[in-house]
Amino acid sequence: SDHQLIYPPHPDQMDWSSLYPDYVVDEPQEQQTPGPETPSDLDLAPLRPKRISKEVEVADIGCGFGGLLVALGPLMPDTLVLGLEIRVQVTQFVEDRIKALRVQDQEAKLYRNVGVLRANTMKFLPNFFRKGQLSKIFICFPDPHFKARKHKQRIVSTTLNSEYAYVLRPGGVVYTITDVPDLHEWMVQHFEAHPSFERVPEEEQEADTLVNVMRTETEEGKKVERNKGQKHVALFRRLEDPAW
Ligand code: SAM
Repeated sequence: SDHQLIYPPHPDQMDWSSLYPDYVVDEPQEQQTPGPETPSDLDLAPLRPKRISKEVEVADIGCGFGGLLVALGPLMPDTLVLGLEIRVQVTQFVEDRIKALRVQDQEAKLYRNVGVLRANTMKFLPNFFRKGQLSKIFICFPDPHFKARKHKQRIVSTTLNSEYAYVLRPGGVVYTITDVPDLHEWMVQHFEAHPSFERVPEEEQEADTLVNVMRTETEEGKKVERNKGQKHVALFRRLEDPAW
């Protein structure tokens, strides 16, 4: 349950170094504790996470077994990509999958930019990401929660869309895909009704190569393909905040 989940109190305190060890910045100790060493400085020193040279820019919400993640890694080698998954064993599986791929592709240094984190994305997303930090959020085949009384568990809602809007930069895009027509309608309705988002026109959507990657590389996408099911795609662009 959530009790075992650990959240940084603020994105600055998130330690990304174990997820992306190749990006850790070597900082001399003195630089980490500037000024006179007061007792409070000393108390804080162990809390200061190791810095990495880039920030996570792409998030896959409910990444499952990580098919999309490991496809995106080599496609955007200069971008840090993060999968977020709530199930312990599934997160562990993805972690092992990434580790194995990194060893396999040691020479090419692929997959160093891909990481996975166990988290409940319905809570504390702004604890991990600064305002406007992300350029892309993928929400692929989210659990449908069919019954009306379960709709509040859907990971697209008015409240959660405000969190996605907070962590996404203007111009950034939310990618959604599902095989459940009712859930597709629900996601379109909720994003279109939100003042921070507009739907990306279909022509532009189909010209985005990542849309096909999402259709074909997610584990669920493959399953739907085998069952000859329908895949409904919708993309939403984060708008600029209005000037006050
Ligand atoms: N995106 C993957 C794909 O397309 O193959 C997996 C889809 S699967 C149907 C939905 C995934 O979302 C599951 O792995 C589930 O554990 C995860 N999930 C559900 N609610 C979540 C939450 N609140 N936070 C993080 N992950 C969640």
